[in-house]
Amino acid sequence: MADYPLPYAQYAESLKAGKLKGLKCGGCGAMFATPRIVCTSCGAPGKLQPHEFQGAGTVQTWTFVRVPPLRYQAKQNYVIGVVKLQEGPSVMGILQVEAEKVIQGMRVQLAPVMFENEVQMGFKAA
Ligand SMILES: [Zn+2]
Repeated sequence: MADYPLPYAQYAESLKAGKLKGLKCGGCGAMFATPRIVCTSCGAPGKLQPHEFQGAGTVQTWTFVRVPPLRYQAKQNYVIGVVKLQEGPSVMGILQVEAEKVIQGMRVQLAPVMFENEVQMGFKAA
């Protein structure tokens, strides 16, 4: 079995602590904000190393969720968006901003959200 350079449990614990850990490829320099086992840019195995992102980014796109997925029934009326981190990768997360105030290119900062004992990617206005 292959060794994961960033096991999900470690990723989630870091996120709970307000830190966004990801991976950087020692072969091609590509960065990833979510755990994976192989660099999906160059395909080189064993080159990914943990990397901590600053957590700053800009909103690329977003939507207002009125009807959540079944497992999130208790969490209605929230904004979810795609944030481009300043280091390059994009991540999806809950935007803790009023829907009417979100604009494309808005600067945001990592602010993970706890929901039913699970940590979720989240951002607040910077
Ligand atoms: Zn690579």
